[in-house]
Amino acid sequence: MKIVFATSNPHKIKELNGIVRDFGESDIEFVLPPEGFDPVENGKTFEENSLIKAKEANRLTGMISLADDSGLCVEALNGEPGIYSARYAETPQARIDKLLKNLEPFENRRAKFVCAMTLIGENGEILFADRGECHGSISFQQAGNGGFGYDPVFLVGGLGGKTMAELTDNEKNAVSHRGNALRKLLEFLKNNR
Ligand code: IMP
Repeated sequence: MKIVFATSNPHKIKELNGIVRDFGESDIEFVLPPEGFDPVENGKTFEENSLIKAKEANRLTGMISLADDSGLCVEALNGEPGIYSARYAETPQARIDKLLKNLEPFENRRAKFVCAMTLIGENGEILFADRGECHGSISFQQAGNGGFGYDPVFLVGGLGGKTMAELTDNEKNAVSHRGNALRKLLEFLKNNR
């Protein structure tokens, strides 16, 4: 089954394909939306933004479309950067620097990654909408070269002080917000063939 995945981020496609393979789902193939895919992400929640993206991919292709919207929510910063994770500062490094600086006054460094996923059917109907989370905390220093975004400063809960960027792709998929959301989706697809 071909599903359009509403993204232009190659990291996400790579992660998704890895998880689908691990799950033993060989008949699902994610394909990119056509050129010109540029949805206006003006929702107020991860869920709203993921719906906007999935609807736009479906409008352009008429195909079953999946979208995710994800980000980092830091407890002491009232959930920031949240839906603004990608726009928190100009570059990935500037975003990490700003986060560490803003957290300096606080002892509470608890945080979570969130991923909302929405699957839209060929006729634009919502087939599936759910979210995955990954709980942890923000480190004081960066560590690791894997992953992307805030991974080097996200200490994964229960993994003995490793940042997300220190995990292998498989290890990240097993615990990540995106992995958790996608596993729920794959379960749904399995039960609704
Ligand atoms: P999206 O592409 O609108 O979902 O924006 C997600 C943003 O949240 C990314 O640009 C990253 O800054 C951050 N983010 C989401 N998922 C991850 C992850 O797995 N690791 C690190 N940062 C992430």
